[in-house]
Amino acid sequence: MARGRGWSPVRGSGNLARVSDGQLREPWVRPDDIEARRLEAEARAEISDEHELHGIGLTAIARCSGCDDAVFRCEDETFAVVHLSYVRPDRPPWPRTTRLGGFIALELVMDQHEH
Ligand SMILES: [Zn+2]
Repeated sequence: MARGRGWSPVRGSGNLARVSDGQLREPWVRPDDIEARRLEAEARAEISDEHELHGIGLTAIARCSGCDDAVFRCEDETFAVVHLSYVRPDRPPWPRTTRLGGFIALELVMDQHEH
């Protein structure tokens, strides 16, 4: 199911990071197309055969302005927060990955993200 940019907004999430409507809260920023392609290429290069995200299509939807965390939408409609390591390929479990089943869980993780 390719929903692309036409995500429906998540209602009632208060001040949480609004992943779905483009209003990301600091330190999260939405990458432009060039940055998104770079993040996706970097993740692909770091993820080796044994990594849990191997073989899953990733679309970059957010990155942290304060660290190397990036948020990807997976082709199976889950989400993954990946701490890019810039080691290509890295050795599992790196790049460190948090998989999330939906918007609500993702927004909570993004909202609680701190350095
Ligand atoms: Zn961060």
